[in-house]
Amino acid sequence: MTDLQYQLDLLKAINNKLAESERMYKLIVERASLSFIYYSKENDQYVSMGSFKKVFGFDITDHGDLERFFSNFDPSKESRVREVFFSENFSKNEESIDTLDSYGKRWFRIICTKLYDNDELTDKVIKIIDITRDMSRNEELLYMAYFDSLTGIYNRNYFITLLDGFIADAKDNGDKVALITIDIDDFKKVNDGLGMIIGDEYLQQFGSYLKEFQDDRVLVSHLSNDIFALGIYNPYGDYSVDSFINRIRKRLVEPFKMSSGQEVNVSVSFSISEYPDSGDAALTLINCGDIAMFRAKTLGNNQIVYFDAKMLEDFMSNVNLENKLSDAVLNHRFEVYFQPQYHADNQTLRGFEALIRWKDDEKGFIPPSEFIPIAEKNGSIIPIGNYVLDRSVRQYAVWRDMYDVDFTMSINISAVQYKREDFVDNVISVIKKYDVNPQNIELEITESILIDDFELVSNKLKVLRDFGIKISLDDFGTGYSSLSYLMKMPIDTLKIDKTFVDSVLSDNSTRIILDSILNMSHNMGFESIAEGVESENQYNYLNDKGCNVIQGFLLGKPLPAGEIQKVLEQAANSQS
Ligand code: C2E
Ligand code: CA
Ligand code: CA
Repeated sequence: MTDLQYQLDLLKAINNKLAESERMYKLIVERASLSFIYYSKENDQYVSMGSFKKVFGFDITDHGDLERFFSNFDPSKESRVREVFFSENFSKNEESIDTLDSYGKRWFRIICTKLYDNDELTDKVIKIIDITRDMSRNEELLYMAYFDSLTGIYNRNYFITLLDGFIADAKDNGDKVALITIDIDDFKKVNDGLGMIIGDEYLQQFGSYLKEFQDDRVLVSHLSNDIFALGIYNPYGDYSVDSFINRIRKRLVEPFKMSSGQEVNVSVSFSISEYPDSGDAALTLINCGDIAMFRAKTLGNNQIVYFDAKMLEDFMSNVNLENKLSDAVLNHRFEVYFQPQYHADNQTLRGFEALIRWKDDEKGFIPPSEFIPIAEKNGSIIPIGNYVLDRSVRQYAVWRDMYDVDFTMSINISAVQYKREDFVDNVISVIKKYDVNPQNIELEITESILIDDFELVSNKLKVLRDFGIKISLDDFGTGYSSLSYLMKMPIDTLKIDKTFVDSVLSDNSTRIILDSILNMSHNMGFESIAEGVESENQYNYLNDKGCNVIQGFLLGKPLPAGEIQKVLEQAANSQS
């Protein structure tokens, strides 16, 4: 193992451990009103917590107490209870069993949640929930078939059956049916930030809130994970889609209060599909709702999107694009173009930004703004990114050998690439492979990368910078850019987004912001680059304000490697 790899692994291990113990703590503290047992593998110890003693009359402090605990349950379920309890099965990080107590009176649900460090079990939390109220022995099967066990509202399958019933009636009577799909925004953040127990409790509370709408014209369902739905027969008047959305939004202004006292505030997105416009089967309406929801999520949080036929068309063409993309990756249908960057004051060459191009036989050039997001989602950005990296560094080496010019090669890196464990090693090995001075290579990253997982990413960037590589912050000004972040960021270069350049001459407030960005960048010792410069006036303005480097159509468009020769010859002449 290399030194570097060792350091990285160590860093990762520490980070994981910290995140985990924090999560564990949250899991435990937040739900003191529940009974549970915490197991730490390190100490091989089980400890009961919360209201355990109140429910069972004793506490667990050693292995002997565990036997006493098991004897509380239906003897026919005991072996299964033990299985759930002691399981270390990596693939099932949550297992549960419902069982009667040994008196045949109360029902308990025992849920074991396991945490792992790599593949090693580290901790377990065993929750014991009294579910007697929800379930009697005879009703159990019936209940499971129709209702979602977490929220107690209709499950997906039964909802589909009932919604199809609505549609059949509507067909007979010439009526309408609307489906409102409700997706909680950023629910992952609730789960990750507050713990899964709070997450579950939120879903329960939100589900029971929605259940209040249920009557003979309204069906309420928990479709999956953080997605709920309302099926509405004849959505007019008090039953109109707007009316339901307004009521739900009004309710969400107030937080939901968890049993631990914590308050949880979320927003939701709505999508709407309808019989007969969107389709004539429940499943079709749900699928259309999914497609519209997908659109809603690309627009941000707190959205309302109605399904329409154009959306289906776009969706299909996206699917089509995705298929083409896999094809393109397999058959290497990509090329890298290079756009020159010039020092603002004397117009000498500063370097090139490598920009990917995809040429499709049917569709011609497909812009990266269309396919990069898809490639990021389906993972093909990894082979694509590796290709761009290899091509650009190799091209740098070729030009360095051909022309006597000092310049920088800037390469765009996607967040998905950073998250890979082998990212740092991978970059360094390409640079070594072509025997290139790392100081001539620059990686362009975006702020979102840093916000996601600041410590981990900035540590990786530090390793790369220590190696000599330059780091550039792309699209600056469009994201969450805050000064405090900027100060902590291990970067060398600030790329000011094109939107600023576009409006700098016409808009006063842009001018003020741009001026202060340039000032700040200068004071912090960053090199500033303005991109998308298209006119002389923009150029002059930026140069006057002390912007270091200019990139844009005014001075040069992205070109294939073969056409860069002239740029380099010219640069060689002016540098010598
Ligand atoms: P970006 O990193 O902000 O790249 C600058 C974009 O602005 C490029 O678009 C470039 O062609 C365009 N541009 C440069 N000067 C001008 C100008 O004066 N006027 C106008 N209208 N446009 C200008 P392109 O090549 O279409 O790339 C779009 C985006 O796709 C890039 O934005 C980048 O985010 C992404 N991208 C491109 N190549 C790669 C790549 O190899 N890897 C990754 N991860 N992303 C890439
Ligand atoms: Ca860029
Ligand atoms: Ca940019």
